[in-house]
Amino acid sequence: MNRTDKLFSFEFFPTKTEAGLEKLLDNAKLLTKSCQPNFFSCTYGAGGSTRDRTLETVLQLTKKTQVSTAPHLSCVGDSKESLRNLLQHYKQEGVNRIVALRGDLPSGMGTASGELRYASDLVSFIREEMGDHFHIEVAAYPEVHPQALNMEQDLLHFVNKVNAGATGAITQYFFNADCYFYFVERVQKMGITIPITPGIMPITNYSRLARFSDSCGAELPRWIRKQLEAYADDIESIQAFGIEVITSLCEQLLAGGAPGLHFYTLNQAEPTLAVWKNLI
Ligand code: FAD
Repeated sequence: MNRTDKLFSFEFFPTKTEAGLEKLLDNAKLLTKSCQPNFFSCTYGAGGSTRDRTLETVLQLTKKTQVSTAPHLSCVGDSKESLRNLLQHYKQEGVNRIVALRGDLPSGMGTASGELRYASDLVSFIREEMGDHFHIEVAAYPEVHPQALNMEQDLLHFVNKVNAGATGAITQYFFNADCYFYFVERVQKMGITIPITPGIMPITNYSRLARFSDSCGAELPRWIRKQLEAYADDIESIQAFGIEVITSLCEQLLAGGAPGLHFYTLNQAEPTLAVWKNLI
């Protein structure tokens, strides 16, 4: 793979304990050594539930790996005032990239609340408050966001969100490259020129992947599901099959012109590295 013109990023989530953070940092160092990431990112619990831990993880990742790290930031359940303070804090700390999202409030925390309703409102807010300081990534859904009325509406909302000031997009994960190429072609026809980086979910565990895919609207194709079901508790076979499937997906995406790859590491280095080694 000639990686000079491709962007590779790796996502983490904030851990609950110091020991968890140390492990995360060790894995980030392994990824840094092998993959020379363009950036790391760290998720944010909607409603501000991980505000401090996301901040701490972002600062530690940058300090310990020297790789620039983008905090995710969601607007649902947060006030403009708290978002403004956080953005200013990030700016002071030298952060220059944000992943801007609407977020999903955990069940039991009520329906959408907060002063900004959609990710497009958050992107506009960041531009109003901070000018061009931040490179802003937004989320894209090649298989259609689960709450969208239909694909056409979802495409229009994506285009509006980009036009509000996003400079890049990262997709929800998927296992079928065609949906990605179709999505990119459609939004390019609507005037979008920013890089749209596919989100890649390594396969390591069937039940967790099936549950998560159901909740975020990512389709786990029947042939993958059937094979994972058949392996049951045979972890080695699941991992070998997962590496083969995800390597092939990444190869198709890069060969077809994807601007890079964004790996959902789930705070582990090994599953991503196993795929990476096949790509280089
Ligand atoms: P939006 O772009 O606002 O879209 C949400 C829905 O609203 C879509 O169905 C869209 O079609 C619709 N919509 C948009 N604008 C309008 C409008 N004007 N009128 C009517 N409908 C509209 N969640 C977290 O909580 N924390 C994270 O750190 C996090 N990181 C993520 C990273 C990536 C790369 C991805 C792909 C997702 C991430 N998520 C995260 C999940 C995300 O918050 C959810 O998918 C959420 O449901 C939608 O967020 P969004 O930013 O895509 O929302």
